[in-house]
Amino acid sequence: MKRTYNEFIDNGLFVVSHHLKKDIQDITIDDLKETTDYFADLAIKVLDNETLRNIAYTGYFSSAYDFSYRKMKKIFKTFDLRKNNVLEKYNNILNNISNDKYCIYCGEKQTNINFKIGRDYIPDIVAGKFYNSANNLQTVDICPVCCYLSLLSIFNVIPIMNKKNKVISCVLYISDSNEIMQSITSKNMRFIITQGLMNNINNELYRRQSLVKITKEYNFIDYDLENISFITQIKFKNEQPGTEIEKDTINNKKMYFIRKLIYMDDMESFIKFNLYHSLLDDESMIISLINQEHKYIDEGDVENMCDLVEEYEIPSKMKNIIDKTFSMLIATNNEIKLRKEIKLCGNVIKFEKFLMNNYEKSTIDVTEGEIFELTNHKYWHKYKYLLEWKLIREIKKNKGGNENE
Ligand SMILES: [Zn+2]
Repeated sequence: MKRTYNEFIDNGLFVVSHHLKKDIQDITIDDLKETTDYFADLAIKVLDNETLRNIAYTGYFSSAYDFSYRKMKKIFKTFDLRKNNVLEKYNNILNNISNDKYCIYCGEKQTNINFKIGRDYIPDIVAGKFYNSANNLQTVDICPVCCYLSLLSIFNVIPIMNKKNKVISCVLYISDSNEIMQSITSKNMRFIITQGLMNNINNELYRRQSLVKITKEYNFIDYDLENISFITQIKFKNEQPGTEIEKDTINNKKMYFIRKLIYMDDMESFIKFNLYHSLLDDESMIISLINQEHKYIDEGDVENMCDLVEEYEIPSKMKNIIDKTFSMLIATNNEIKLRKEIKLCGNVIKFEKFLMNNYEKSTIDVTEGEIFELTNHKYWHKYKYLLEWKLIREIKKNKGGNENE
């Protein structure tokens, strides 16, 4: 089977691939039909576990696996009856493959127009994208195969706990890299199968932190990172009055940066300054550090982490000119006075005046042309905060030096 790049369908496909120990492209519809018993069994094991059951409730699966577990438990009193209920549902889906229309996800002509696929089968698709109660559509052109795989994605969902070990939301990952999908699936399936989840995740798992730490948590090797362009984390929150899906993505460049942080042992300080929010939101981590100026100055040695942030964020051409200009500024001024002055440069005209004043006093080899480059209307703001940041680092450096004397 081919990947669809739909987060639910693909996760289901990798769950099947993991279980059958078969590459995704070798999986056939007959293979799928042989998995229904195994996964129906596993589904009830998940639903019977009080904590894991919350995956179904927080992750849109509740109606697919029966709207109310309590009701289901009342009607189907034994494990086997409950399992059969799910098994019948799975088999019913796979027995309804037809050739009426092409599936909008996998592109195969195997959709059945008489088989209604609605909100209770595929999460998200129904909730937001193609279909909602307002346009009154009762079904979409999704084939039973995609539908079945989508239901299996529940086994690849990771719960997010709060401090009381309550599942408050859950996440699903999708990457373009098959190797990454396999690593993630094999680890998650191990949790689900052994139900050892609670013992393994003791602390509160912040979801955005966990996306940043993903290379470490799932042991991605260099080969994986070279062949990946993104990992997206899909977060569900299934609360009244509405349901909500949030997505965060890290790309290859970010993953290499994160890997450097891990290798250089700088992850802790990175997390301490909450820089992962800026990284994920494509906002400047340097601005975030400037906003935390006092915390940064009082903090111990985080200079290595700051070097990595600069390396990630400042293009080398820009770095040269910033370094030169900074030398020019610091040569004739007191740091504290400079800090005040630069803060007051609220617009490009003030900034230019500030630079030109210092340029006239200076003996450092900076050209007028370079100064004017800094006051480029599009980028002056970035140059300004980079100079500000260099100054803050200098202030910290000198402060540390004095303390040691
Ligand atoms: Zn399909």
